[in-house]
Amino acid sequence: MQLAIPFDNSYVRLPAQFHTRQGAVPVRAPRLLRFNAALAAELGITGGDAATLAQVFSGNETPEGAAPLAQVYAGHQFGGFSPQLGDGRALLLGEVVDRQGRRRDIQLKGSGPTPYSRMGDGRAWLGPVLREYVVSEAMHALGIPTTRALAAVATGEPVRRETGALPGAVLTRVAASHIRVGTFQYFAARRDIASLRALYDYTVARHYPHVETPAQLLSEVIRRQARLVAQWLSVGFIHGVMNTDNTAISGETIDYGPCAFLDIYHPQTVFSSIDAHGRYAYDNQATVIVWNMAQFATALVPLMPETEAAVEEFTALVHAMPDLIETEWHHAFGRKIGIAAPGPEDAALVADLLTRMAAGRADFTNTFRALLEGGARDQFLDPAAFDAWEAGWRARLAREADPQAVMRAANPAFIPRNHRMEQMIEAALAGDLGPFERLLDVLSRPFEDQPDAADLRRPPAPSEVVQATFCGT
Ligand code: AMP
Ligand code: MG
Repeated sequence: MQLAIPFDNSYVRLPAQFHTRQGAVPVRAPRLLRFNAALAAELGITGGDAATLAQVFSGNETPEGAAPLAQVYAGHQFGGFSPQLGDGRALLLGEVVDRQGRRRDIQLKGSGPTPYSRMGDGRAWLGPVLREYVVSEAMHALGIPTTRALAAVATGEPVRRETGALPGAVLTRVAASHIRVGTFQYFAARRDIASLRALYDYTVARHYPHVETPAQLLSEVIRRQARLVAQWLSVGFIHGVMNTDNTAISGETIDYGPCAFLDIYHPQTVFSSIDAHGRYAYDNQATVIVWNMAQFATALVPLMPETEAAVEEFTALVHAMPDLIETEWHHAFGRKIGIAAPGPEDAALVADLLTRMAAGRADFTNTFRALLEGGARDQFLDPAAFDAWEAGWRARLAREADPQAVMRAANPAFIPRNHRMEQMIEAALAGDLGPFERLLDVLSRPFEDQPDAADLRRPPAPSEVVQATFCGT
């Protein structure tokens, strides 16, 4: 059957300032590595054999109905403002309205240079493509809003990086949209208020149809981002590059670069090789997202007739965000210790456990899972530190109806551990996609016990520890 993608494109109809229309730069020998058939079905995509899928999702063939374009945006990168970024190695093929009526973007990543490539080659290599594929699908299975992975295709061409030539690949990702805080910043910084307003109208219609004012939009995005970051923290996720161009207005996790999950719990953990000062360390994420929302607020101000009043109103919304995050955090972590409807009074119990975990070099995922399965004390350098906490916890749980069920739904057995990701990439470079397939399979059911995959729950041996992760650009 012929490949059919039911495109229904809207971003392309925005004014020319929003994008550059262009196709992908063809690659030599595309080969399909993985296609997400379940997601394709959700999107209403039908037909297509492996060869056709490889042609289309490498960018070699433009599918019927697509209107490829590179989106422009700006952004604060590590705190410094870049007035023009954009899709330097990505192309929006178009949008579909999925089976549930939600509009979704289909984007190629690694599809060749665009006017926004700056010094880059517009390409991606295999490692980061498989990494984003696995992590984004794992995040979805963990119940965390995220972009998805639809396809991975090897290009048959080398990509040059500092370490030498590496095999090229293209990832197809699906997103609620690719509108970023940085998209608003782009027009605000240029004082192109007509475009800023058009972007606002488009965003509201697409994501927040009930919203009537810029303040309401800000408030909605703040709510979703507060929730999102609390969810990240609850699974030990470190995004690694929380620049404003990597903060989606939809509230989805986007742009998996040097992201990583905690093994041993320590709140100041950093993996990214480029995050020298720990700006995006594990527990700084809750602070940085507020800073990012302040930048979003600033970009919205020109839409308000009365600047001073707007600044005051927006400031109040941003200042209220830390409390929102804290509430979400209480909720997420309270559930991790088995409390169905945690209140602020339970926060001390959680905080005490985390302090002991950090001191005891406890594995984040395995300690919480062990609260459910038993053996949590063995996760601590000094097991007595857990015993001292356990008595108070048990007393609190006596008031809960079914703490086991609450913990089972909040404490995954499986996360994409960094050393397993590195091993998976090593294997793929040697031509073996087995570990990639297996990670995808196991991580699609992270809350199930899966005794056959016990090896994937094991923290890294000293020789396996991953010290740094790279952007993969
Ligand atoms: P990131 O911080 O990874 O989200 O990327 C920041 C900016 O760099 C974005 O505008 C990307 O499109 C661009 N970029 C990253 N890698 C490349 C590449 N290999 N070629 C061209 N542009 C790139
Ligand atoms: Mg980015």
